[in-house]
Amino acid sequence: LDVVRSVEPRIAAAIGQELTDQRESLKLIASENYASPATLLAMGNWMSDKYAEGTVGHRFYAGCRNVDTVESVAAEHARALFGADHAYVQPHSGIDANLVAFWSVLAQRVESPALERAGVRGVNDLSEEDWAELRRSLGDQRMLGMSLDAGGHLTHGFRPNISGKMFHQRSYGTDPETGRIDYDAVRAAAREFRPLILIAGYSAYPRLVNFRVMREIADEVGATLMVDMAHFAGLVAGKVLTGEHDPVPFAHIVTTTTHKSLRGPRGGMVLCEESLAEHVDRGCPMVLGGPLPHVMAAKAVALAEARQPAFRTYAQQIVDNARALAEGLTRRGAKLVTGGTDNHLVLLDVSGYGLTGRQAESALLDSGIVTNRNAVPQDPNGAWYTSGIRLGTPALTTRGLGAPELDEVAALIDGVLRGTSPGTTKSGKPSKAQYVLADGLAARTAEQAADL
Ligand code: PLP
Repeated sequence: LDVVRSVEPRIAAAIGQELTDQRESLKLIASENYASPATLLAMGNWMSDKYAEGTVGHRFYAGCRNVDTVESVAAEHARALFGADHAYVQPHSGIDANLVAFWSVLAQRVESPALERAGVRGVNDLSEEDWAELRRSLGDQRMLGMSLDAGGHLTHGFRPNISGKMFHQRSYGTDPETGRIDYDAVRAAAREFRPLILIAGYSAYPRLVNFRVMREIADEVGATLMVDMAHFAGLVAGKVLTGEHDPVPFAHIVTTTTHKSLRGPRGGMVLCEESLAEHVDRGCPMVLGGPLPHVMAAKAVALAEARQPAFRTYAQQIVDNARALAEGLTRRGAKLVTGGTDNHLVLLDVSGYGLTGRQAESALLDSGIVTNRNAVPQDPNGAWYTSGIRLGTPALTTRGLGAPELDEVAALIDGVLRGTSPGTTKSGKPSKAQYVLADGLAARTAEQAADL
């Protein structure tokens, strides 16, 4: 940090403070993790300085042999880890991976010379006539995805995201009684709506998805099945999600982020069947700028880590920990959406504490517990205030916490929320839930023990 400090001390201070904050708090944000030092070092270096538009062996810039190595090793690990025909490791984020997937499906399924030209040359080169033709041919495409309040993601066809402008969207929710996906309802919606793309995948659904059934539904209505496994990619990589819960054998195309349960650098990735590969590989320049070679290097390292046997133990522990958290909260009287969890996340309905999600999020943060507020199905408080808190275990599992510690975390969360007065953003009874790392394991600080 000294080198950074000599140029811009405020940035060095912020980076240093971030390390302290991440160590001194309990990170329960379901989409966050701690990347390994090997992954971080692969990302923080001069690989960043290279331009490499195009694909391996077919670049628009000279001098790309090292980037070619990086990209092909990352793709090789991704194919082997997930058993995919094809892997494209360039997307800069999950949103970018989804954009690549959407355009690939459109390019494969919609007859449009303008789309073809855009795929080869990039959209900057399209003429006015091309744009008019594109608008005509894409104007009526439909997408069916999970509703936001049931746990879907903005990129699955919702208005604040470009996907909601590209497609006519309809969503499927969850059963009001069980909180789980009702596959008959999905099938009925698909039969009526006839989507080009059926999307499965979520950001805040605490149960498993049956991708075999999703594929049957897609086949029945002639849709392409796209699965966004951003949240649970680590559980697929760690072979905790197998059979009909592993999306790769069933989906035509799978997208993911690399930084959540997969524990890699921030970024995205697309896996697909061979028939979509040529379209996916045109992600740059179609919707992506030049690839980030340093991030692809870090993806390769993280994917190599995920192929180690230890990652399977880690993935199983994520799920065991989420279950321990859910059980600990339920035993103390908390209400969970669907009554529990089968994956890495728990959706806690905080209305029973007389709080909104926003108040609960703030009270927990005051106590060193970092979470995010989240809508619950049919949320009366809407998407900003919400009635829920989303809790995920990938990060604490990386820090070595096990089921007994997650039960203590449940006690801390319940204690903070019970001690919080509605209408304030401060918890009534401040309790410092601080954990420190000791020899790679989490140990309670004396201060925290006193608070408990
Ligand atoms: N897809 C899902 C299911 C997500 O949960 C997220 C992010 O939270 C994304 C896509 C977008 O990822 P990114 O923030 O890397 O663009």
